[in-house]
Amino acid sequence: AAKEQGKSRYARYAETMDTCAVEHARLGAELQRALTSDELFLLYQPVVTLPDGELSGVEALVRWRHPERGLVSPAEFIPVAERNGMIVQLGAQVLREACRQMADWRRRYGDAAPARIGVNVSARQLREPTFPQTVADVLTDTGLEPGDLLLEITETAVFDGGPALQAVRAVRELGVHVALDDFGTGHSSLGLLRTCPVDVLKVDKSFVDGVTGTAEQSAIATSLAQIARALRLRTVAEGVETEAQARRLYQLGYRLAQGFHFARPLPAEEIDDLLAVREAANAEPLDRPALAG
Ligand code: C2E
Ligand code: MG
Ligand code: MG
Ligand code: MG
Repeated sequence: AAKEQGKSRYARYAETMDTCAVEHARLGAELQRALTSDELFLLYQPVVTLPDGELSGVEALVRWRHPERGLVSPAEFIPVAERNGMIVQLGAQVLREACRQMADWRRRYGDAAPARIGVNVSARQLREPTFPQTVADVLTDTGLEPGDLLLEITETAVFDGGPALQAVRAVRELGVHVALDDFGTGHSSLGLLRTCPVDVLKVDKSFVDGVTGTAEQSAIATSLAQIARALRLRTVAEGVETEAQARRLYQLGYRLAQGFHFARPLPAEEIDDLLAVREAANAEPLDRPALAG
């Protein structure tokens, strides 16, 4: 009976695996179609300064509007694209569109444009030998200044050194900024901060969640702020959802934040509205009549 039970348990396990594999294969095939249709698009989430909540930068986040499934989360399809290699083409498309959009904002709004645009780069993309050249080509083609681009990579991607680390060095040579995304959740090693030169640490939401809690709960966010300051790295606190968290993060030394408390990922047109308001505000003092006397 135990054997029977074991067997059926295995059968159930195999079935789950199978459903998973079939599901991934199907999603992969549909993703191939999505790459050549207009089902993939970008949203832009503001990164703001603390404590005032002013727009600083934006992060480009890919979305898939599937004809039958509706909006599919990148957390679902990026891993599939990584596994079947499609991430290379998908990532290049995302990079190009994000840079085109940012160059457009820079041209239209000048200093009132976002300071930079963050683009997520997966481990597999970073390991492609052609990656640095792709970045250089996209910058040339879109006319974007390298300093306006921030590539967001994960610790895990660069953990074993090798080609990924070479790629980080190569894009920084171009003048592009690099951030370690979800910092603290991957194969974290503080030694990485010495071997892998980056500009920004994006402190993961899981640590931000704890900042209003006990000393233990806030310990990592507190320490990362100190380490970043000592190493002269900028930090962005990710996933800020409340005013209390924002206030506490500011006390801890965080000067940049991102999260639903400030803004959700938005269509480009809504970022445009924010920029237009800011441009108008910048122009205002000049338009104001001089004070009499
Ligand atoms: P990420 O790069 O860490 O992006 C931040 C994620 O946190 C986004 O999820 C964003 O919508 C979400 N978020 C921001 N603020 C809050 C908050 O206050 N509360 C909560 N609960 N969530 C918040 P999204 O857009 O679903 O993306 C998930 C992940 O998928 C990203 O995490 C990134 O790793 C990956 N991803 C998204 N777009 C791309 C892309 O173009 N290329 C690659 N390779 N990965 C991407
Ligand atoms: Mg990111
Ligand atoms: Mg992140
Ligand atoms: Mg994250």
